[in-house]
Amino acid sequence: MRKHIVAGNWKMNNDLPQTEALITELKAQQLTSDAKVMIAPTFTNLWPAFEALRQTNIEVIAQNMHFADHGAYTGEVSARMLKSIGISTVILGHSERRAYFNESDDLLAKKVDAALENKMDVIFCFGEELEDRKSGNHEHIVENQIKNALFHLEASQFKNIVLAYEPVWAIGTGETASPEQAQEMHAFIRQTLFDAYGEDVANATSILYGGSVKPNNAKEIFSKPDVDGGLIGGAALNAEDFFAIINAF
Ligand code: PEP
Repeated sequence: MRKHIVAGNWKMNNDLPQTEALITELKAQQLTSDAKVMIAPTFTNLWPAFEALRQTNIEVIAQNMHFADHGAYTGEVSARMLKSIGISTVILGHSERRAYFNESDDLLAKKVDAALENKMDVIFCFGEELEDRKSGNHEHIVENQIKNALFHLEASQFKNIVLAYEPVWAIGTGETASPEQAQEMHAFIRQTLFDAYGEDVANATSILYGGSVKPNNAKEIFSKPDVDGGLIGGAALNAEDFFAIINAF
């Protein structure tokens, strides 16, 4: 059975005291679903978050990383550095990284390789813009994003890859894809995996949905057969809302 995963992407929110306060609230919540829970604080708060959540069922993950191991890349953080503080999952390809930091499919392919070489798991994000959906080009865009960054991998490497379909028009906008739109795209993604790698990879790879998931819509989205969890932005900044979403499974 595929893993259910709900990951909270905190983005550039929460300083250290706010991080500590939110973690205290998260620890007070009850997990009643089988979903694996993850949170992605900013780089400066990864270590304190990791320390505070040791021996809990909440994994601390990174929002980004560089592809090089070390070197003259001012302001960057490597997979090796993340691993050295206990972080073993990273989000790559978030639409905000693509849009504001010009991250291309080629760059993301290098980051994916670096993460896997360092024995990290990757939550790989992709999704179409509103114009792509309006023009009916959304499947083509998504297929290319996945192929360009991931399809050089061996089938066996997909056990360390989680996919996150995040239509750009639904991120932080309050507008979510309908459960039917999400299911349709997730089924298409799974078929794309099947065509390239066969049944085992297609059936075993978790595909998360991201884009304005809230407590009031999570249950319906998560009830779809090809939706294996969620990548949550805004609602992950509130412990009760985040756990209401997780427990919607
Ligand atoms: C995200 O940033 O990955 C995201 C899904 O954000 P939101 O839930 O706020 O739309």
